[in-house]
Amino acid sequence: LTVGVPRETFTNERRVAITPQNVALLKKKGYGKVLVERGAGAQADFLDNAYESAGATLVDPGAIWSAADIVLKVRGPNTAEIDRLKEGATIISMLQPAQNKDVVERLAARKVTAFAMDMIPRISRAQVFDALSSMANIAGYKAVLEASNNFGRFLTGQVTAAGKIPPCKVLVIGAGVAGLSAIATARRMGAIVRGFDTRSAAREQVQSLGAEFIEVEIEEDGSGAGGYAKEMSPAFIAAEMKLFTEQARDVDIIITTALIPGKPAPKLLTKSMVEVMKPGSVIVDLAAEAGGNCEKTEAGKLVTYNDVKIIGYTDLPSRLPTQSSTLYSNNIVKFLLSMTPQEKEFGIDLNDEVVRGSIVTLKGDILPPAPRPAPP
Ligand code: NAD
Repeated sequence: LTVGVPRETFTNERRVAITPQNVALLKKKGYGKVLVERGAGAQADFLDNAYESAGATLVDPGAIWSAADIVLKVRGPNTAEIDRLKEGATIISMLQPAQNKDVVERLAARKVTAFAMDMIPRISRAQVFDALSSMANIAGYKAVLEASNNFGRFLTGQVTAAGKIPPCKVLVIGAGVAGLSAIATARRMGAIVRGFDTRSAAREQVQSLGAEFIEVEIEEDGSGAGGYAKEMSPAFIAAEMKLFTEQARDVDIIITTALIPGKPAPKLLTKSMVEVMKPGSVIVDLAAEAGGNCEKTEAGKLVTYNDVKIIGYTDLPSRLPTQSSTLYSNNIVKFLLSMTPQEKEFGIDLNDEVVRGSIVTLKGDILPPAPRPAPP
């Protein structure tokens, strides 16, 4: 079977789906040919000669699509790429099938088997394939660095001969994978950190990182199916927004990560909350791609409103391309190898919960989404 890895074409996408190290692993596991498009890893500092030394065959732009039996990608394929796929081929990439129905239909029309890395169930056994978590971890880390780069002071406090410097105060809204990563990073940089989440399970995780867990007085737990968040009642949202108005006056940096799968991001920071923040404060909105948690966020941009910088970048993992490619490559290659039994043949077992959860089309048939696992 021939595996192919094209260069990513999406604007500002610097990641690559495979590292040279994982090319060598695939070869060792019996994949005869691994084709890598020339320059595919250049923006992530994985150079062509490293792929060649690892056993890859370098090919010219465009050549992958018609030659590969299995295509590994970061972003979902665009229309032109799908049309060049070999009929009956397999593709594994991020796909967001619910939001990209036209892509799914086009893949089906080419009799393609497609797996969505973003649909892999978040169960313990599948943690090693969990690209949403590995990318969210990077996004949370990078969010703090972006905030710091746009903030005029240290994050840590110091006492120096030139004066006493108070530590910066950071509020992180949403303590899932990205939020916890942001909390840990801001703590390591010496800030005073507060965290908030609708899921009560997040309290202990926030506190274990040395941050304060702030709460509202309404008893309502936000845990929904599969451990994901559910939509909260209007009364809860009103109470949390009141809490954030008080916090907005006090903190210097707010990082928002609140998401509800399949829904637009909840609007939690209004224009008037931004107006009460101190001059020079920074907001990083990790929910920008899903509509943003802040009313003033513009997806993909840094905007300044009332002397507060609001960062809505949607490519944070791609801004640490070497790290994100390494982790994504580990996720995708281990997922591929999990479907490769001893005979070194690619096999699809629909009774496997991870395969069933992530498969979107099978040889041209569009499969309905698998039911989500019950909350733990
Ligand atoms: P996510 O990116 O979908 O959402 C981010 C966070 O926003 C969540 O913690 C959510 O509770 C929070 N949120 C939603 N609405 C909010 C609101 N109104 N106010 C404040 N916060 C709000 O979440 P995620 O990072 O993908 O993780 C979701 C859950 O899945 C977590 O419990 C996580 O521990 C779990 N998880 C499990 C595994 C595994 O077992 N393999 C892997 C990854 C994540």
